[in-house]
Amino acid sequence: SADVGESVDVAVIGGGQAGLATGYYLRRAGLVPVRDFVILDAEDRPGGAWQHMWDGLRLFSPASYSSLPGWMMPPWDDAALGFPPRDHVVDYLGRYEERYELHVRRPHGVTAVSREDSGDRLLVAADGADLSARFVVSATGTWTLPFWPTYPGAREFTGRQLHAAQYRRPEEFAGQRVVVVGGGNSGAQVLAEVSTVADTTWVTSRTPRFLPDDVDGRALFAAATARIEALRQGRDHAGVGGLGDVVMVASVREARDRGVLKAQPMFSRLTATGAGWLDGTTTAVDAIIWCTGFRPALRHLHPLHLRDRDGRLSVGGTSGTRADGEPRLFMVGYGDWTGPASATLLGVGRSARDTAADIVARLQR
Ligand code: FAD
Repeated sequence: SADVGESVDVAVIGGGQAGLATGYYLRRAGLVPVRDFVILDAEDRPGGAWQHMWDGLRLFSPASYSSLPGWMMPPWDDAALGFPPRDHVVDYLGRYEERYELHVRRPHGVTAVSREDSGDRLLVAADGADLSARFVVSATGTWTLPFWPTYPGAREFTGRQLHAAQYRRPEEFAGQRVVVVGGGNSGAQVLAEVSTVADTTWVTSRTPRFLPDDVDGRALFAAATARIEALRQGRDHAGVGGLGDVVMVASVREARDRGVLKAQPMFSRLTATGAGWLDGTTTAVDAIIWCTGFRPALRHLHPLHLRDRDGRLSVGGTSGTRADGEPRLFMVGYGDWTGPASATLLGVGRSARDTAADIVARLQR
């Protein structure tokens, strides 16, 4: 095993909202940042994925419904413009980690988590700072693993292709023929922007479902909470999935009023210059923006050889986040499989709280 420098009780991998919320609860339980636990983050600045999202991105809930534990997100004073923008979130996360003196160590990308040959610790290899930990929390999010579906002819297409993760602003597509792929919030928001400067076509693999105008992220959170209750009582509950996908933020409502929010079925293939459709016709396309989501960024956990199903690990325990097959590893913030609404600013607090409580109880054994 690598000769290991530092040893800590807990290593948190990822300094986005999930890692910060976990750090908040570890500190509140009496663990001291740096001495007892470290948060390692691959970015060189605070903000997790938020710092990379497109310029026009808006939260799908108000600031008061987008807060991490302990400190409400400052109100977004320009309420007339709708929900808070990306930079308000990045600023909040940066101030949050200062407020709780979490001393996130960055940039430190963790390349591997493995079991120590002898003894009971996990080895965390991070560029230039290996350490050993009694417990590891993986809070690496999904942004670094965009999902690109494969379609026939994708390699032949000579136009521009990018994922929502690389999209920044609509101006780059002015006057072009652009296909936006994907019926979730990203697809709807990117289509809403790009359609103001380009000739857009929206394609989705299933018909998008829109939330009612007066329903926003708060309803998503309420549905996720109801699902937890239902599951606890052994009842089923569709959770967020039962509500619909797209929150009608201002830009999406405006796109609907312009009549562009109409999705059609996916193209069947791509050609060198465009898209081929089921009816045999083809249309010329200059650019394709794949708003087709992400997968959990778990490459660093491969040395633990844990069983995974479609890129997710099976988890359980009192927190619902402890990895089956490795009781010293916890997964926070990856979405419903690690706790309902856990991939949201408001929802991640619950699983961070339960994860920290489980770890602290084990440390005290
Ligand atoms: P991230 O923010 O991705 O943070 C993970 C951190 O871990 C990053 O800093 C990354 O660099 C680091 N990392 C990754 N791998 C490693 C490694 N191996 N070693 C060290 N560090 C590593 N949620 C809401 O509540 N409201 C919204 O309106 C909303 N809108 C969204 C819009 C979009 C387009 C997307 C994609 C998501 C949205 N979400 C929203 C969901 C969620 O809040 C965000 O995805 C959020 O970024 C998840 O936080 P996280 O901490 O889990 O992951």
